Amino acid sequence: MHLPDLNVAKDRKKSENKYINLEENYSKVFQNKKYFLRTYGCQMNVHDSEAIRSYLETLGLTNTENLEEANVVVLNTCAIRENARDKVMGFLGKCKYLKKNRDDFKIVLLGCMAEQPDVIDDIQKNHQYIDIVIGTHNLYDLPKLLLQEFNKQQIEVYSNSDEIIEGMNYTRDSKITAWVNIMYGCDKFCTYCIVPYTRGRERSRKLESIIAEVKDLKKNGYKEVTLLGQNVNAYGKDIGETFSHLLECVAKTGIERVRFVTSHPWNFTDEMIDVIAKYDNIMPYIHLPLQSGSDNILKKMNRRYTKKEYLELFNKMKERIPGVAITTDIIVGFPNESDADFEETLDVVRTCKYDGAYTFIFSPREGTPAAKMEDKIPMRVKEERLHKLNELVNYYSNQNNQKLLNKVVEVLILGDSEKDASKVYGYTDTMKLVNVEGPKSIIGKIVKVKITDAKSFSLDGEYLEEKVAN
Ligand code: SF4
Repeated sequence: MHLPDLNVAKDRKKSENKYINLEENYSKVFQNKKYFLRTYGCQMNVHDSEAIRSYLETLGLTNTENLEEANVVVLNTCAIRENARDKVMGFLGKCKYLKKNRDDFKIVLLGCMAEQPDVIDDIQKNHQYIDIVIGTHNLYDLPKLLLQEFNKQQIEVYSNSDEIIEGMNYTRDSKITAWVNIMYGCDKFCTYCIVPYTRGRERSRKLESIIAEVKDLKKNGYKEVTLLGQNVNAYGKDIGETFSHLLECVAKTGIERVRFVTSHPWNFTDEMIDVIAKYDNIMPYIHLPLQSGSDNILKKMNRRYTKKEYLELFNKMKERIPGVAITTDIIVGFPNESDADFEETLDVVRTCKYDGAYTFIFSPREGTPAAKMEDKIPMRVKEERLHKLNELVNYYSNQNNQKLLNKVVEVLILGDSEKDASKVYGYTDTMKLVNVEGPKSIIGKIVKVKITDAKSFSLDGEYLEEKVAN
């Protein structure tokens, strides 16, 4: 049994990356059994779940969306906000009830929640019906643990790791777009964030492994890759590489669309901007988290940039990358955020006129410095600020979308529209969701679409023709 420890997780002693090639052979011992997988949280978790799915299917399990017919229930969890944790706990209640009358029902909890000592303490005391708990660093232990015979709860959570796993198989959710991990962990330690503790120190995959994966995806018909890391700008610092060089190498593979997420404004270099501007297949879309417009709050958040520096970077991107769309993340109600601090945030939103923003009320995470900060701001005030911010954000996102009305844009069509089954949906190069009137045969293709209606969160359009290959 290995239990998490936040002090160990915080340790950033320099050590060599360990590149581990997984060559695993498991027999299909769970033939005729079913698994139910639920994923909470960010894209990193969504992509981890593609690996988890692959492990489960290698063992012979097949997917079910019906919890009651599952034999193995896997929850890939998120620790970033309290409500994510509450949702998991609520769902576990249902699993506990089902397990009461079943001998062949295993519950597995994986991911960021497992890295938190207070969660593990609670699981050991109050949730003994959970069979297996695995942290973010050793997902690959899942098949081994499922295959073991045991009669007590198994907890295998490593607090930090130098490992980079290669040769991981993925049962990908899409045959059109794919996530590609380029690095793991984060060393930024923003004071509100639990990620550096749950995901460990920054460590980069080798450039040649990433390029090989992208080439393989392209060969298999994938149209778009999204390079994935908690802070992709930091890619390569540990191995003498840079993100701009990686981005250029990925663009040169000729895959039709390249995206990346997430970028920290602090070390977004001029070279990165130049590479994005230079290659047509690097999409002109950047997610650039602001978090706050107040220098006072940015300092308390340990974000390492000022409002002025953020705006300089934002303007440089807008000037140098034609047609770039920029979205952001904003936290309201950070401990003791004053009205004046909040006004600074609104000022940045008015200046940047973002294409979209994910907005949140500050949620204290146990073990982070911000959770210990004094906070006199009542929740009612925080909710009012969020409401005001959302109104402004939605106004600009609608304005930006209106500019596309009657324009012809290129859209990568991904599948049937959730809103209207007679339509299909996809994304523009600037990451705008479009519901398209057109034949189902265009799914998987990049097509030209005329925009017929624009709302705050999506566009409507009609299919014109397929994009002519260059
Ligand atoms: S950059 Fe900051 S907010 Fe983003 S994952 Fe790292 S610590 Fe968290």
